[in-house]
Amino acid sequence: MESILENNRKWVKEQRAADPDFFNRLADGQQPKYLFIGCSDSRVPASAITGTGPGEMFVHRNIANMVVHTDFNMLSVLQYAVEVLGVQDIIVCGHYGCGGVAAAASNKQYGLIDGWLTNIRDVIRVHEMEFLRISDEDSRLRRLVELNVIEQVRNLAKTSIIQNARKGAKPPRLHGLVYDIKEGLLTDLKVEDDMISEFNHIYGTSAQKHAAKVLEKETDKPKLTADKPKLTDEKSEKKSSEPSGKNSKPAAK
Ligand SMILES: [Zn+2]
Repeated sequence: MESILENNRKWVKEQRAADPDFFNRLADGQQPKYLFIGCSDSRVPASAITGTGPGEMFVHRNIANMVVHTDFNMLSVLQYAVEVLGVQDIIVCGHYGCGGVAAAASNKQYGLIDGWLTNIRDVIRVHEMEFLRISDEDSRLRRLVELNVIEQVRNLAKTSIIQNARKGAKPPRLHGLVYDIKEGLLTDLKVEDDMISEFNHIYGTSAQKHAAKVLEKETDKPKLTADKPKLTDEKSEKKSSEPSGKNSKPAAK
């Protein structure tokens, strides 16, 4: 602990030497351009890897950089960043070698954290086929880290906070980045959070119009499975009890 206090004094001295007004300026308030949602992992320090200094980045960190819709801590940070601070860019930053992501993929029980890891397991479920097709375990986990970032950016887009901001003149841009601890490099995953608009009839707050459109489309389509035939006589009743999926048409005789 002693070294932390010592380092702090040294840092203050250096900052004052470089810029005598540094702390006075920060004390006046903050206007960060960025909100960073990252993993709590000690190897992913938000400021250091992005080259941002004090006052430039609003930060929220949790295990595996999750955007969980029942997490009032994250939602409070998001709302304050968007509606009060007016951040221009929101970054979800995952990292390869993420312990949270690996734990979620392991099918083991870890106690209290299992509830949190379920949110990552939901990502596996949504992308299960792609996930299972990758035979190399390391590559599979790396891809899961990326897929998790993509889904968390989409989760941001689903919030009423972002949806409301998008009705305004300067909505924040959403980004998904992944950090490679071995290389120290950030990669932009170029997440298309616009795909959420495709599901606006589900996630949108002006849902009714879209729902009507979807239903309209649906009624235009030929039905994939016809209603079960009405059991009018003994023969068709017998037929329908047979273990055949094709019960939409009575068999021709
Ligand atoms: Zn992590």
